[in-house]
Amino acid sequence: MSAQAASKVEKPTLKDHANFIGGKMRPAADGRTIDVICPSDGQVFATIARSGQADVDAAVRAARVAFDTGAWPRTSATDRGRILARMSELILSERESLARLEAKDVGKIYRSTFSDVTVLARYFEFYAGAADKIGGDVIPLPTGFTAFTIREPLGVVAGILPWNSPTQMFGRVVSPALAMGNTVVLKPAEDACLTVLRLAELAMEAGLPEGALNVVTGYGHEAGAALSAHPAIDFISFTGSPEVGTLVQQAAAANHVGVTLELGGKSPHILFDDADFAAALPIITNSIIVNSGQTCVAGSRLLVQASAIDRVSELFGAHFQGLSTGPHDVECDLGPLINAKQHKRVNSMLSTAIGEGVPVIAEGRIADGSSPDGYFVRPMLLGPVPRQNTIARKEVFGPVLSLLPFTDESDAIALANDTPFGLAAAVWSRDVGRAMRASRQVRAGQVYINGYGAGGGVELPFGGFKKSGHGREKGMEALHEFSATKTVILNHG
Ligand code: NAD
Repeated sequence: MSAQAASKVEKPTLKDHANFIGGKMRPAADGRTIDVICPSDGQVFATIARSGQADVDAAVRAARVAFDTGAWPRTSATDRGRILARMSELILSERESLARLEAKDVGKIYRSTFSDVTVLARYFEFYAGAADKIGGDVIPLPTGFTAFTIREPLGVVAGILPWNSPTQMFGRVVSPALAMGNTVVLKPAEDACLTVLRLAELAMEAGLPEGALNVVTGYGHEAGAALSAHPAIDFISFTGSPEVGTLVQQAAAANHVGVTLELGGKSPHILFDDADFAAALPIITNSIIVNSGQTCVAGSRLLVQASAIDRVSELFGAHFQGLSTGPHDVECDLGPLINAKQHKRVNSMLSTAIGEGVPVIAEGRIADGSSPDGYFVRPMLLGPVPRQNTIARKEVFGPVLSLLPFTDESDAIALANDTPFGLAAAVWSRDVGRAMRASRQVRAGQVYINGYGAGGGVELPFGGFKKSGHGREKGMEALHEFSATKTVILNHG
């Protein structure tokens, strides 16, 4: 199946990237395109298809046929796992080129995209192994009946992705959805399509049948809206902003299909005065500068016990001064923001906060030789930030860390929970009891103690409380999100 399928894939030209539908590259039906801009220098280096309703219809039709009559849902779970394992190997064999492509496309530094691609391979490895480990229950009934449950695929899954980690997001949605026998239509963010398109080709090389995975590129209000409202899809996995999440959930409601929403965050680090500050420093800093703060789990609020505020300001301030922002292909601590709009938005939030009197403790620098047309923002440490200031409450999606003092344990918890979000959090303390109590009281989908992140976190269920969304992806729980229980009752007398 794989060699045959691979021979049917038409290679796009270097710069122009078409949609991937039914195993073939297809330009938008009306030929429209969108320029792809490198965030490090603001220059156009490729185009993608600007898809509309007709392209989305074609992609959903391909996925529908592949699900209703095709091989994928009828392939044994063990064989599906084998194809996913092959995909993991192919990803690793192209790790450098995928990482280079992603770095140029989204402006992330190469070190970071290399690690993202490694995590992507791990997603396929993990769900390859998990595909045939999902069983059901036998349910006790009165004599004469036997009942059991089976997990069934949902059907056509629509995946709408954000731009901040396209390769990781591809792994997070596609590998569990395929493991359960669904077929997929992806709509990557308009600023982050190139690696997703290459990965769709690789999936065919791994042996995925035509139509089991389709990619339509384009704007959210066009291709994204058409996909989320499409009557022939069965489920939506959405990752992005809370505002668009509302629109997607409304579209899902109209078709009575399920949806997971993975939305934003304003995640706190709670740093008690007995914590190991030296160990915390690089980890907390990394949590806000990785991908230039453009991660949903950015550790953007540093809550510090008042008795330690001077020590922490000094330690973190000295560290922030040494950080540098630069192009994706230069040895720096962080790269540019994704686009001109985000650059303007983050700078405007910063100047408003500073104009309102929020003190700057320290700022990093922009590396010499960086293009004036790149979307660079210096890493900033602000504080003490008043609790009600917008910059302490709203998602910045930039390398901005707000330091806020707290008095005691209960004040720390109240402050940690005092945002509309509830995605991730960390508690830093040598007192195990205090750390455990705090971890139980913080309202967040993931809470770390004396750390932040655990490799790619592929194995760990992930999702939000409150305005950070609902549903869980990653880990074994994702297999439940991407499947439904069927109950079979046999009346054998
Ligand atoms: P966004 O909501 O603007 O876009 C996300 C996706 O939705 C894109 O593919 C976009 O084209 C599409 N879209 C836009 N309008 C649409 C519409 N009307 N209908 C359907 N689709 C539409 O978000 P973004 O700017 O790409 O990403 C940043 C946001 O994503 C942040 O808030 C961040 O916290 C969040 N995020 C969350 C997670 C998570 O796992 N919780 C991960 C990454 C990013």
